[in-house]
Amino acid sequence: MRTARLDARLAPHGLCVLGSFAPEPGDGLPEGCAALALVGPDGGAMWPVFRAAPEYSDGRPDPLDRWSARVLTAVAAGLDGTALFPFGGPPWHPFIAWALRTGRIFASPVTLLVHDTQGLTVSFRGALALPVAIDDPAVSARPCARCADQPCRTACPPAALTPAGYDVPACRAHLASRRGADCRLGCRVRRACPVGRGLRPEGQSAFHMSAFTRSRS
Ligand code: SF4
Ligand code: SF4
Repeated sequence: MRTARLDARLAPHGLCVLGSFAPEPGDGLPEGCAALALVGPDGGAMWPVFRAAPEYSDGRPDPLDRWSARVLTAVAAGLDGTALFPFGGPPWHPFIAWALRTGRIFASPVTLLVHDTQGLTVSFRGALALPVAIDDPAVSARPCARCADQPCRTACPPAALTPAGYDVPACRAHLASRRGADCRLGCRVRRACPVGRGLRPEGQSAFHMSAFTRSRS
């Protein structure tokens, strides 16, 4: 199977393949899985699709996760595969380890993952475990190697997210403060990355920040 065929199934939902790999023993994938494709928003294309979906406005918890589960379960079924998700565990799937296996997603200086075209805005809505190999898995060079200024290192106003790690309480305190208004529109560290800058709509970033501030973990 070619990546373009997968992308064609995902495009109506504003989703795309972020990277893929051929599993090895120990990857924790279902028996018979010949390829795993990580799936996430195709830039800003997902946001209007999700906003028009019933989950967005039904008032029930976790609308984006429920939408992702519905959509990707149907896509996987059409490919005789299985959809796996970074939420709803246990079991909790090792999405970070899987991402690093793709050759398109890398560790950034600030502990977040960075994608070759989406930069620090990369996020996963799920993964497709497929019974056939992907013929043309793309690989890229780590974008940080050619990022001279590395603005992600210093973009966090309270220095809660730096190469030293992520101080979650400090981030939450800043978000709750008057000075955190800009961060409530989207994490400034993610927005500072020149790779994929502007790909994520402001409304989508604010949605994620709002969900984060309401969560307890
Ligand atoms: S800002 Fe530069 S160094 Fe930081 S994650 Fe983006 S590409 Fe890498
Ligand atoms: S949301 Fe703001 S305070 Fe939190 S890590 Fe991002 S830049 Fe720092």
